[in-house]
Amino acid sequence: MSNVYNFSAGPAKLPEPVMQQAREQFVDWNASGTSVMEVSHRGHDFIQVAEQAEQDLRDLLAIPADYKVLFMHGGGRGQFAAVPLNLSRPDQTSLHLVSGSWSKGAVAEAAKYNQARVIKQAGTKDGLAFMAPPAAADIDKDAAYLHFCPNETVDGIAYDWLPEANGVPLVADMSSTILSQPLDISRYGMLYAGAQKNIGPSGLSVVIVHESLLGKAQTATPSIFDYTLAAKHDSMYNTPPTFSWYLAGLVFQWLKSIGGLTEMARRNATKASTLYNAIDASDFYRNQIHPRCRSKMNVPFQLADAALDSRFVQEAEAQGLKALKGHRSVGGMRASIYNAMPLEGVTALVSFMAEFERKYG
Ligand SMILES: *Cc1c(COP(=O)(O)O)cnc(C)c1O
Repeated sequence: MSNVYNFSAGPAKLPEPVMQQAREQFVDWNASGTSVMEVSHRGHDFIQVAEQAEQDLRDLLAIPADYKVLFMHGGGRGQFAAVPLNLSRPDQTSLHLVSGSWSKGAVAEAAKYNQARVIKQAGTKDGLAFMAPPAAADIDKDAAYLHFCPNETVDGIAYDWLPEANGVPLVADMSSTILSQPLDISRYGMLYAGAQKNIGPSGLSVVIVHESLLGKAQTATPSIFDYTLAAKHDSMYNTPPTFSWYLAGLVFQWLKSIGGLTEMARRNATKASTLYNAIDASDFYRNQIHPRCRSKMNVPFQLADAALDSRFVQEAEAQGLKALKGHRSVGGMRASIYNAMPLEGVTALVSFMAEFERKYG
């Protein structure tokens, strides 16, 4: 395990101490003789795990009391459907910022359930990919919500501004950036994240939603996707993904133990600048995102000679640097450096890149 660094975009690396702890507890959890996976979600022991996880998440993100925290099924894409079903009527508009492939996917799904409309797409600035805020005039005050994705996992485009929403609730897909830095939750109507990047195992999605947005679900909303039902039943309307919830709880405790999101943000900034500096210092590698829109979580980069791509991936693998092949729609390489990636993983990658350039550059 020790000499491998996994740069997978998702499901992604989990913190090493969390994996060790889960292994120790796997078959005999809390000296109960059973696994946490094998006990009732309504039993006292699991309820404690569930409540602690929610409290730790609330502490980490300083979630105000008038927001509900929901642990749901269906990952990120499940929410692409759940958001329009819960927050809009079929005749209502949802506004969308499209900065890459996930925010684009969210519009296509929303359009099944409401009048989804794209008001701003990523463009270029100085020949590099760039995402600018929408004009205030493009925000229809009667829209049900404005959806955006502040970190595009595939494209490596990120931004930290929030759109001026004219009172329209902001809804953010934070699947690949949640918990990477502190957030002001009160600026959002809701946000959500599929778990498998910065939270835990795939399948789980975490939803943080303001109470005022509950009670609006379309009648056709599947019950397991209904935020109001989920809130009423403490996310146990049906059997939740208990093991994922437990593991997410361990990740939250790990984040607290290292000093919370301020410390996490500091580490993430160091990792990202280490990698971008290496890319920028060389003509052999390049990243085609404007410096103001570069993701700190997903770093796509290209080799000057694409014919060397598969050799790069192979030789990196052989040195324990895994899953660096870019998304099939983008090509090149992509290093995902989520919370669980230690700085050592990034420095190992940067050394490998320098050596690869010496050999083939
Ligand atoms: C991974 C990802 C998704 C999709 O998650 P699934 O759990 O596969 O449905 C959606 N949005 C973003 C930003 C993602 O990174």
